[in-house]
Amino acid sequence: MVDFLMPDRGDYPAWICFDCGKLYGRARSGVSTYHLGDRCGWCDREIATTQPRDWGYPPAPDKRNA
Ligand SMILES: [Zn+2]
Repeated sequence: MVDFLMPDRGDYPAWICFDCGKLYGRARSGVSTYHLGDRCGWCDREIATTQPRDWGYPPAPDKRNA
């Protein structure tokens, strides 16, 4: 499965989870696009995820998923 849904942000996974967003990004009060059924592109857990833009496009923790 290929998840390059964001061609102008090629280094980003399509989805990151709340924990990764909170750890590496900037928490925002208005995050509202969580959904279930996708894996986090960073920690690979299948939990509630949202788009990296909701976290201000935080720098990736590492390239473990590359
Ligand atoms: Zn994660």
